[in-house]
Order: sequence, then C-alpha cells, then structure tokens
Amino acid sequence: MELRKLVAGNWKMHGLSTDLAEIEAIASAARNFRGVDVALCVPAILIERAARAVPGFPIGGQDVHEAGEGAHTGCTSARMLIDAGASLTIVGHSERREGQLESDAEIKAKAETAIECGLGVILCVGEILEVREQCAAVSTVLAQLDGSLPDRISTHPELAIAYEPIWAIGTGKIPTAVEIGEMHAALRARLAERYGAEGERVRILYGGSVKSSNAAEIFAVSNVDGALVGGASLKAADFMPIVAAAAS
Ligand code: PEP
Repeated sequence: MELRKLVAGNWKMHGLSTDLAEIEAIASAARNFRGVDVALCVPAILIERAARAVPGFPIGGQDVHEAGEGAHTGCTSARMLIDAGASLTIVGHSERREGQLESDAEIKAKAETAIECGLGVILCVGEILEVREQCAAVSTVLAQLDGSLPDRISTHPELAIAYEPIWAIGTGKIPTAVEIGEMHAALRARLAERYGAEGERVRILYGGSVKSSNAAEIFAVSNVDGALVGGASLKAADFMPIVAAAAS
C-alpha cells in the first residue's frame, strides 16, 4: 500500500528565538508540497513560539513523560506539549535510549500516554553497528519494536515508526537500499501482525544521514513512507529538497 509520505525534522538541542525565521521559511515552503506531510520536532522550550509563528504547521516535541503529571523534575507531560501547541512527539530516539537509559517498556508507556492524550507519535528503533555487522539487525530491531509498541493505535492521533540505524545518525553513512528495504519490510510485516489492517497504514520512516543527495534513492525503497531528518532539517535550504524528493 502506497502511503502519503511524512518528512519530519528533529532539531535536537538546536534552536533559539533567532531560528524562528527558519521555521517560518520551512512552513511556508512546505505549502508548495501538498502531497507530503511535513513536521518539525523542536526543543520543548521553543514549541510555543514555533507554533505561534507557523499556525497550522505541525510542531512536535522530542520526548514526553509517561506520567500525566507529578514529581518529575525537568520532564514534560503530553498535556504540556499540547498546551504549548505541539501535535506530535518523538519517543525512543536512540540519543535518549542511550543517554537517558530509556528502556523499551518506558518508551511503550510514553507512546501510550502521548496517544491517549491526542499527540501523534514517531517511535524510533535502530541497531548499533556491531549488531549490523553480526547480521542481527532485523531480529534486534524487531525485538525493540515489540517491546516499545503501544497496545492500541488509531489513525488520529497517528503512530509512525522511524527506523534509525544508530551508526547512520549524524555520520554521513547510510545502509544500502537493500538493507533499508529488508528492515522496512520486516517492520511492516510485524506491524501488520500486531495491528492487522491498521498496521498496514502505520508510516515507517527512515532516519540517519538523510540529505538532498540521497533522499530520492531512499524514498524509492519499498515501505519507506518518509524520513526523520536531523542535521539537514535545520535550514530550509537543506530540508526542502528532501521534502521535494518525497513529493516526486
Ligand atoms: C536523527 O537524529 O533523528 C537523525 C536522523 O539525525 P541525522 O539526520 O543528522 O543523521
């Protein structure tokens, strides 16, 4: 099934008031590509200003706490993200799985809370290089997926999966088209097994060093329904050619 593509930017820990003009430039240019969904996941503290700057354009968070509220110093709840103007959030990014030691169970809880509150979710999975070299990438990523998936999904708010090989993030290296196709086919099969027909409609994004120079090749791979883009999403001049590749 051919799904409408989603190209989401992950700004990570980048973005100040002075960068709002770049967000405006991206949102404005995205209007020229009506066949593609575009979103930007920005630092939590920038969400409100970004959402006000680009009304109607999807702004997301990069993490969410699994609890509704409470004694969780420094954390952000799903209702806070929505209150600030976010319509989606990333969960389970490898930089949080590694840096904050987030487990599959926590990521599942975060995804469930976000969806229950009405936030779309981009749930990240991906293997380290040693695992790929041991030919265990597919089994490892499927195990991560099994442990992190929410029990229930719906079309709105949406769950999307981002396959992000950790060794490809910010390195300029990417898997071959065959490797991406093999992983995305395995993820699609597992999602269909888990959710039935709804699993066929879950978008599976590829992430890891996507640039204008490799985007078209990546989007041509079967079951690649878009991209999660880090470094190349910070500037409209780098990001929009990727959106254009998804549109063509
Ligand atoms: C990411 O961290 O989600 C990512 C895909 O980063 P980059 O595009 O910079 O590799």
